[in-house]
Amino acid sequence: RAKSAGGNRFELADPEADARAITRHGLTTALPAALDRGEFFIEYQPLVHLGDGSVRGAEALVRWLHPQHGVLGPDQFIPLAEHTGLIVPLGRWVLEQSVRQARAWQERHSDAGPLRINVNLSPCQLTHPGLVQDTVDILEREGLDADALCLEVTESALIGADDDLLKPLRRLAEMGVDIALDDFGTGYSNLANLRRLPVSILKLDRSFTQSMQQFPADPVDLKIVEGIVSLAHSLDLAVTVEGVETGAQAEQLRILGCDTAQGWYYARPGPPERLHELALVDATG
Ligand code: C2E
Ligand code: MG
Ligand code: MG
Ligand code: MG
Repeated sequence: RAKSAGGNRFELADPEADARAITRHGLTTALPAALDRGEFFIEYQPLVHLGDGSVRGAEALVRWLHPQHGVLGPDQFIPLAEHTGLIVPLGRWVLEQSVRQARAWQERHSDAGPLRINVNLSPCQLTHPGLVQDTVDILEREGLDADALCLEVTESALIGADDDLLKPLRRLAEMGVDIALDDFGTGYSNLANLRRLPVSILKLDRSFTQSMQQFPADPVDLKIVEGIVSLAHSLDLAVTVEGVETGAQAEQLRILGCDTAQGWYYARPGPPERLHELALVDATG
């Protein structure tokens, strides 16, 4: 895309956008080989019980150690993987690694209570016919109970979802896998719609946590979160909060009745050994 800048000189219309497009293209074509070469790795972020501060599990967050660009976050490559379909094998790899890791934690820390693992699912994985069988196979092969697994699906992926889309999630839920509604509150889903979905956990989006920065927080924000929590609990859903960065936020959200929290205040996403340490400290102290 070039536009005439008078005479016969040409200028790029938007050099930065073009550079981004070139990078995107390069990353997209490099994705399949990256999976074969083992350039992806997973960081784990602890999920902490707000009532007693104990580590209850972790969320698996994928990263790409790119040979030229260094560590890339999921926002930089998941959309590309979704676009090309690589998300299906990549997602299966993430699930397998995470389930294996959860099993290893459980073996080493049987005294720390059963640590659970949360894995993100993209909408493309939801519509892929192999999802249920792949999950069953992985759990069986790695020897992890279905109850120890939670699959996170964004609210926006389930807005307006028809029965065909919900069927695999229902089957997984029947097996004992928890389904969490991720980034809850960012979409515009009808709250009554929640009854229809096979979810057992609401993950309240970080934007709500951010509005708890001051103590006491804005009274309207407090009312909104209070309302969501009480509705969730009345539907038997547990509430997890994302993006907790300060003790004041944690305290406010605990008072509001949220069950579990996740965020930099507790720990940044990190290598699996970190969770060992955190869970161990927790179990002994
Ligand atoms: P998410 O599932 O909502 O994950 C939470 C994001 O918030 C993570 O970003 C995490 O690093 C970040 N975070 C955690 N605590 C804090 C905090 O206290 N403050 C702030 N500002 N941020 C915090 P990350 O790792 O960049 O992941 C972004 C998104 O990429 C995830 O959002 C998830 O939707 C997606 N994603 C990550 N791994 C996978 C995967 O394996 N498969 C799929 N399909 N999506 C993934
Ligand atoms: Mg998530
Ligand atoms: Mg989230
Ligand atoms: Mg989020």
